Amino acid sequence: MITITFVVGGRRIPGEALEREPFADAVDRVMLRALRNRLERQTASIRCAQHDEPLRVVAIGPTPEELTLSVEACCGQMKTIADEALDPRRRLGR
Ligand SMILES: [Zn+2]
Repeated sequence: MITITFVVGGRRIPGEALEREPFADAVDRVMLRALRNRLERQTASIRCAQHDEPLRVVAIGPTPEELTLSVEACCGQMKTIADEALDPRRRLGR
């Protein structure tokens, strides 16, 4: 379970709004959608046994090509698991 929010060029776009948001151009939208799908895939199998809270991920950057991830979790253990699954140190995009 994951909640993804994009902040691209200062504009906040909830992950689930990508389909309807008249945001930027089609290429950007495709890129963000691909990233969202990848994050959902990478986190599909992880969940906190204690809290059962969704993972919150914010992908922030000036453009869809230069997003970095910030991961929020319900507890330290979950954060460690999430960081391993997502590797937020790696820069996203191309
Ligand atoms: Zn937890």
